[in-house]
Amino acid sequence: MENICEWDSCRKSGSFKAPLEKDNSKNYRWLCEEHVKLFNKNWNYFEGMNQNEIENFLKSDLTWHRPTQKFNSSDNFFNILWNNALNDKFNFFKEEKINNNLNGRKLNEKDKDAFAIMGLELNASWPIIKKQFKTLVKKFHPDRNPGNKGFEDKLKKITLAYSHLKIIMIEK
Ligand SMILES: [Zn+2]
Repeated sequence: MENICEWDSCRKSGSFKAPLEKDNSKNYRWLCEEHVKLFNKNWNYFEGMNQNEIENFLKSDLTWHRPTQKFNSSDNFFNILWNNALNDKFNFFKEEKINNNLNGRKLNEKDKDAFAIMGLELNASWPIIKKQFKTLVKKFHPDRNPGNKGFEDKLKKITLAYSHLKIIMIEK
């Protein structure tokens, strides 16, 4: 029986295996050629890092202050992060471990910035954050605003803020 690509809303035939965890090759998904390439690109970027290290990297100031690159360059950091944010199925963090809210966690300045960048009230719940992210991506997507550098930068900030909020929602 033929496998169908398991990437969100893709219906192509999936003949490539994509491991879900680096050290467990028995655990994999089937993808089409296009999506396995994208998957491998994301994977290589964080090669050799465990989940904690990836989280720490995404949380670090280094991430926020990284020089901006063109959004459409296929291997730039923001593109990877953005694809990751859009495709929850292939997230580094398992969706089921994400809490719906912060459960009274004390917010630091960066947490507050992240809510503000996304135009959200402090302590907005995870479903609200996800919904807002989709709305903002539609609004600021470079394809809809060709040549508008301001929109591109804004979308990068939104993507980082979204990734940051996702990380702090993860149950520890
Ligand atoms: Zn596909």
